[in-house]
Amino acid sequence: MRRKIIAGNWKMHMLRAAAKELAIQVAPLGSAPKADVVVCPPYTALGVVGDAIASSGVHLGAQDVFWNEKGAYTGQVAPSMLVDAGVRYVIVGHSETRGRFGVPEPGMDDVVLAHFGENDRTVNLKLKAARSVGLVVICCVGETLAERRSGTTDEVVAAQVRGGIADLTAAELEGVVMAYEPVWAIGTGETCESVEADRVCGVIRAEVGVLYGADAADALRVQYGGSVKPNNARDLLSRPNIDGALVGGASLVATDFAAIVEGGS
Ligand code: PEP
Repeated sequence: MRRKIIAGNWKMHMLRAAAKELAIQVAPLGSAPKADVVVCPPYTALGVVGDAIASSGVHLGAQDVFWNEKGAYTGQVAPSMLVDAGVRYVIVGHSETRGRFGVPEPGMDDVVLAHFGENDRTVNLKLKAARSVGLVVICCVGETLAERRSGTTDEVVAAQVRGGIADLTAAELEGVVMAYEPVWAIGTGETCESVEADRVCGVIRAEVGVLYGADAADALRVQYGGSVKPNNARDLLSRPNIDGALVGGASLVATDFAAIVEGGS
């Protein structure tokens, strides 16, 4: 029986005071009986949020990480720096860091988008570096609307899985959670229908099975992310291949996040 994992990605929202307030409100969710609960605030709020959820059972996550441990990498944060800040989980390969936005802002031309240059190779480097210091990694994969419409969802997702976890040992894989996040459903209010979300989570599990065997596939936790809300969480989380949720917008409202955690319990 896989334990559910519900993670809130607070993205680039909230100054420290507001983040602390939200963390105090979600701290009681750490006693959810059937789910691990994780919050991923902006880097600047990791300290106050970590203090607010200390001993609550809610885990602290970061939204990204760099792959080298130290050096001339202005603006980057090393895996051991996250550990030092009390972080236990980290998101890698989010569609927004890959430059694949559900609804790109006006003015996001190719030059601007080139800033978000994440790809399967950098996801893999980050994933291995994070695992080497014991961080649990939430590795995001998912197709764009154009890819879905062209019928390539399964191959796009499977290729991202292969690229992301390439060369991982079986022990390293044990600390990896995959997140199926269809790009067109992120921040758009469009949720992937639960039967289809479950099917693609099954594709991810099967791909891991091909690479690491049936036991590893069976143990793998696969989250769904993309406009998860209190009114759809229970249905999504009741599906056999969906082991949790990666939640953006709804994780910023304590009562909504609590209802989603409740839906997984
Ligand atoms: C996300 O950012 O991973 C996400 C799923 O966002 P939202 O829930 O707002 O669609």
